[in-house]
Amino acid sequence: MRREMEYLSTRGGSEPVSSAVAIKTGLAPDGGLFVPESLPEIDLTEAAAAAAQGYRELAGLILRPFLSDYSDGELGGVIEKAYGGNFDTPEIAPVHLTGEKMGFLELWHGPTCAFKDLALQALPHLLKTAVAKTGDRSEIVILVATSGDTGKAALEGFRDLPGTRVIVFFPDQGVSKIQERQMTTQEGANTHVVAVEGDFDKAQAGVKRLFADEELKTAMHRQGMAFSSANSINWGRLVPQIVYYFWSWFEGREKGLFAEGEEVNIVVPTGNFGNILAAYYAKQMGLPVHRLVCASNKNNVLTDFINTGFYDRRRQLYRTISPSMDILVSSNLERLLFELVDRDPAAVRGFMGRLQEEGCYQLGAEAHARLQEEFWGGFGNDEEAMATIGDVYEKYGYLIDTHTAVGVKVCRDYREETGDQRPAIIAATASPFKFTRSVVQAVMGEESCRGKDDFALLEALSAFTGEEIPAALRGLREKPVRHRLKTSPEGMKEVTGQILGIN
Ligand SMILES: *Cc1c(COP(=O)(O)O)cnc(C)c1O
Repeated sequence: MRREMEYLSTRGGSEPVSSAVAIKTGLAPDGGLFVPESLPEIDLTEAAAAAAQGYRELAGLILRPFLSDYSDGELGGVIEKAYGGNFDTPEIAPVHLTGEKMGFLELWHGPTCAFKDLALQALPHLLKTAVAKTGDRSEIVILVATSGDTGKAALEGFRDLPGTRVIVFFPDQGVSKIQERQMTTQEGANTHVVAVEGDFDKAQAGVKRLFADEELKTAMHRQGMAFSSANSINWGRLVPQIVYYFWSWFEGREKGLFAEGEEVNIVVPTGNFGNILAAYYAKQMGLPVHRLVCASNKNNVLTDFINTGFYDRRRQLYRTISPSMDILVSSNLERLLFELVDRDPAAVRGFMGRLQEEGCYQLGAEAHARLQEEFWGGFGNDEEAMATIGDVYEKYGYLIDTHTAVGVKVCRDYREETGDQRPAIIAATASPFKFTRSVVQAVMGEESCRGKDDFALLEALSAFTGEEIPAALRGLREKPVRHRLKTSPEGMKEVTGQILGIN
């Protein structure tokens, strides 16, 4: 008989639940995050055989023990829908080798050209199956506040999925022209996009208010609807990310990035700590990784934390050219803390309480030593990222985006400071075409940007490099705008009521 995997809260105040309940619930009832009671060990020979058959076969092998309450048919269905035909390459996440013993794990071949697709193509199906399995008949209403990439990835993931609706709120000042157009041209009968006056914090605070609004929830309940969330603390977003680290290792080995028996390092440009946490889990499950390198932009809270054991969010948030990493509170870090303190929920409650009340906390010496054994932290500012994009293109003819550039910069720093020259797998988190203005400026010079809008820059970059514009971004200028709703933050409830027909 198969063993059932249960999920615990990092704060210890909730009953263990099945994976379906963890995914349906999102946040644990005590405010903690769900973590699996143990991490399954993966047999590398078996995994290699699965990977040789393809990404979906490997995904089945890795996800199976985590999602033990999903039937084989249900899990197979989720994987087929997620990775069956929505990526522009059958490899799903190919590894591209340059020099310097670097292999770029390209996580941007999905429908929105950023790595969140890898999880958000799977999560809607995991969630819908979870709702059905737990006997719930509600129509699921997903609310998302986005600073750019998540909103579009959620829209694409949930588009036309029966029994679900998705409403995305984006700040009218705060997403790029391309990101805005990606969202406002979204197709699908169940998708809704609303511009909110103000910045991301306004939109996010508004969504939090909607989630907590009892009046709205009661009215929805009467009509058979219930809110759910697709944000990055949901276990259903994290678990699909473990798959591609295993995949990248087999791809790297096959392409000669490293020799038999040689260890690699994994470098991840980080914001909410979700992507790098998936790499950490992969390592705990048996992937032969030496060190995890955590790369931040000028918002270097995590670099300081890894160096000193002191987490301090009391600082200014900078806007950078890698906006998906402009974060001061990395929510998924809580899951790592849980491991660093030997899964002691009281210690996690202590840290999170101090973070809430004082804005900072200090790890004990033992936990800090463990953190440093697994992770190395570094950061790069905008100028360094720009120089790195230019340099990598010049040396290897390879285009990287602004987030990935921070990864390369920090990878080089790591090697220089530690002398550790092991080969590196670098998570390439977005297509360079998604952050075109910075990339054009870095490889073609500032002059080339003058007077051109983002759409013209796509063409210019493609013409200059000979690289094709990804299908998802091609033709965006001509695509009809389907969503024109706009509201003040105060009006978000009314707009939501109108969309759901409950006024
Ligand atoms: C979301 C995002 C990141 C940060 O990932 P986390 O899981 O939040 O650490 C990095 N790069 C890009 C392009 C992203 O969209």
